[in-house]
Amino acid sequence: MIGDIENLRIHFYGVQGSGSVFPQKEERDYIRLNSDLELLNKAFSKLQEKTNANNTLNCSVEEILGGPVNAESLTLFRESLEPQEQPVFGGWTTCFRLETSDGYDIVIDCGSGFRLCAQDLEKKWGDKEQRTLYILGTHAHFDHTEGFDQSNVCFDPRNHIHFLANRSYLTSLDRHLGIFSHQANRKDEGRPTPLNYEMMPASFESTEIRDIAKDGAEDNPMVSQYHDVGEPIKIGKTTIQPFSVFHPDPCLAYRIEHNGKVFVFCTDHELRRGDDPDFHLQVASLDAEQRLVEQAMNADVLYRDGQFLRDEYDAKKPLGGAQGVARKDWGHSCIEDVVDMAIKANVKHTYIGHHDPSRRWSELVEIDQDLEQQSKTEGRHFELAKAETIIDL
Ligand SMILES: [Zn+2]
Ligand SMILES: [Zn+2]
Repeated sequence: MIGDIENLRIHFYGVQGSGSVFPQKEERDYIRLNSDLELLNKAFSKLQEKTNANNTLNCSVEEILGGPVNAESLTLFRESLEPQEQPVFGGWTTCFRLETSDGYDIVIDCGSGFRLCAQDLEKKWGDKEQRTLYILGTHAHFDHTEGFDQSNVCFDPRNHIHFLANRSYLTSLDRHLGIFSHQANRKDEGRPTPLNYEMMPASFESTEIRDIAKDGAEDNPMVSQYHDVGEPIKIGKTTIQPFSVFHPDPCLAYRIEHNGKVFVFCTDHELRRGDDPDFHLQVASLDAEQRLVEQAMNADVLYRDGQFLRDEYDAKKPLGGAQGVARKDWGHSCIEDVVDMAIKANVKHTYIGHHDPSRRWSELVEIDQDLEQQSKTEGRHFELAKAETIIDL
């Protein structure tokens, strides 16, 4: 996308949940069949326009194509049919980038999508000598951190990378890489990476987001400074309000506001479908859901985890296997609940992501079509999040 950034430009690099996926042959065949059928349908409709009263073609192949049968004229003919783009639902795990009207780059999470995000950043920065990147972390799970040390941005001394995240996220990056504390234990067995901070010439800074009133601040070599979770973070003209959601690992969501435009990012949050309203996990989940509704109230755009359908969560329907598996306390929400929540919070446009890696492409297409229907009924927009989406707010 080109043009000035009016307020916020949001890039979706990774919307896949739990693990990266590449479509298998069956799914690739499904995608190809659908796009071939769409194109053939348009081509034959066009041919029908050129038939005479006897239903016979009255022109040559060259006339139809606008030239001889070769790559050039076939490409032009194909373009004239305006083929529909096939949606790319998944692929890489969680990574988003915001570009702000006042020139900041703010990344959310470093799942495997961060590798591509970093390539775009390097391209954008070009010869710039001083580069600062802000990264908001949500939580420590691998699908939100795995792309970090695979990215170019770690290896350029001109780059300063400032993480703002909870203790768990900062620890997951520092434990083996030592980027904040410079204390990586390289003798540790079972390290998930061959790299460490000494091989990464970029500079790193960490702000730990925590409940300072409750937990206080402490002297920790990993933390450059502390930020209270109840206070907004200011980056230029952008105001970011962190808030905690319900997940097996402590997880933060963010309400991001710029010139009155609001984007709420909430990955890995479970609206628990339990029977006992007094059970402590049920109470914690409902509290977090309430917080989310308040923070998302009247938002322009919401990105929200909807990994399962209710029947899959409740083990009534299989997902990627022969039998249903109960998904309670896995930390993810149901698509139907996300829709209900977005209506309650009066959100204009909701992107539902963190797709399950076992979800088949054809199912994603069906769910997306259902969401399109619901959007018409509800007068607001719901859709499955698609990688490579870029939106301007
Ligand atoms: Zn996740
Ligand atoms: Zn998680």
